[in-house]
Amino acid sequence: MTPSRDDALALDAADPLAPLRAQFTLPADRIYLDGNSLGALPRATAARVQQLITDEWGQGLIGSWNTAGWMALPLRVGDKIARLVGANPGELVVADSTSVNLYKVLHAAWQIQRADAPARRVIVSERSNFPTDLYIADSLAREFGGTLRLVQAPEDLPAALGQDTALMLLTHVNYRSGRLHDMATLSAAAHAAGALAVWDLAHSAGAVPLALHDDGADFAVGCGYKYLNGGPGAPAFVWAHPRHVQRVRQPLSGWIGHAAPFTFTPGYEPAAGIARYQCGTPSVLALAALDCGVDTLLAAEPLGGMRALRAKSLALTRLFIALVEARCAGHGLSLASPRDDDWRGSQVSLARSEGGYAIVQALIARGVVGDFRAGDATGGLGDILRFGVTPLYTRHVDVWDAVEQLRQVLASGEWREPRFNQPAAVT
Ligand SMILES: *Cc1c(COP(=O)(O)O)cnc(C)c1O
Repeated sequence: MTPSRDDALALDAADPLAPLRAQFTLPADRIYLDGNSLGALPRATAARVQQLITDEWGQGLIGSWNTAGWMALPLRVGDKIARLVGANPGELVVADSTSVNLYKVLHAAWQIQRADAPARRVIVSERSNFPTDLYIADSLAREFGGTLRLVQAPEDLPAALGQDTALMLLTHVNYRSGRLHDMATLSAAAHAAGALAVWDLAHSAGAVPLALHDDGADFAVGCGYKYLNGGPGAPAFVWAHPRHVQRVRQPLSGWIGHAAPFTFTPGYEPAAGIARYQCGTPSVLALAALDCGVDTLLAAEPLGGMRALRAKSLALTRLFIALVEARCAGHGLSLASPRDDDWRGSQVSLARSEGGYAIVQALIARGVVGDFRAGDATGGLGDILRFGVTPLYTRHVDVWDAVEQLRQVLASGEWREPRFNQPAAVT
C-alpha cells in the first residue's frame, strides 16, 4: 500500500532523530531537497560568525590568531570531520577547495608511484565523475605525461586497472545518479593492480558512514558546503593515509604548510603530518561557519551517529521512490538512482526524456527545491531531476509533500509555461 500523508506524519512523530532539525534555520514555505549542493544554515552559525567578527576580529585584532585559536582551526575542525569519515585525529585538515585539494593529493600520489613504480602512467576514473575531478586529473596527466582512462560504467572499473595504472580516482557517491561505490572492494582492486586509491567524498561526507582506514583508501578529499553544512564556498578537507602523508611534499608548498611558518626561513620544510597539506592563510570566517555545520552532524552521535542518519536517509529515499512510482506513474519519469539500498547515496535522481529543467523550475516556484543536471550527449547520460535528502532536517512529510507537488506539476502540464523554460546562470 502506498503510504498516506498521515503515515508520513506518524513516521516523523516516531523518529528519534527528529529533534536534530531544530538545529537549522529553514524557510517555512520551502521544502529543501538540495542539501547535497548547499547544506542548510545552522542556527548557531550567524551568532558564531558575528561573535568572531565583533569580538575576535573587532577587539582582538591580530592577537586573535593566538588567543582565539584561529591558527588551530584547520586541524581542530579536521579532527571533527575525521570522526565522520573513519579517520583518526590529526590525519585530516581543512583547507582550500575540493578542486585544489584534488590537485594536491593526485600530485602526491603520483610522486609516490613515480618513486615506486615509474612505468605506471595511467589515472583511471569514470566518465561520469564530477567534471572538476576529471579536469584536475587531466591537468595532472598532461603535466607528467600520463593519460586519463575513463570507464563508462562502474562495472568496468576492475578490468580498467592494470600494470600501467598509477592511480584510481573515484567519487564515492556519483553526483548525478547517487550511485555509491564499494570503497573497500575497489580500493582492494586498485591495490591488487599496484595502484593507489584516491577518493572524493563530496557527496558522502555527512551523508553516509565512511571508513577510510578500514576500506583501504590512500588519499581522500571532500566538500564543506554540501552535507557538512559549512555555507556557500566553505573550505574543503583533505586526508592522507599515515603511511603516505610524510613520504612526499604536496605541490602547493605555501608557508602555512611549512614546519615553522613564523621563522620566515627562505627554504621550505614541510610540516609534520597532514598540516603540510595547508597552503596559505586559512579563511577564518569560513572555518568558523564550517565548524558550526560539522557540529550539526556530531550532535547526532548520542543518537547513533552516521549509522542512524544513514538508516533515516534510506527510509526517506525509499519513501520518495515508492511515492513517485505510485503517484506519478504514467508521467514519463524513471528512476536514475539505484533501487537497492546498498548502492544508493542520500539522493533520488529521476530521468525524463524532456522537460527536466522546466519541471524543476516549476517545483521551485511551488516551494520544492531540488535541482536539475543536464545530460552528457556524448556519454549516454540523460538529463536528471535530483532530490537530495538530508536526514538531519528532511522529514518524511517533506518527502510526501514534495512528491505531491511533483505529481501536480506533471498532471497540470504547467512546466510547459515559458517562465519555467528560461535557463538561469546557476542550476
Ligand atoms: C561538489 C563537488 C566538487 C566541488 O569542488 P569545488 O572545488 O568546491 O568547486 C568537487 N567534486 C565533486 C565530486 C563534487 O561533487
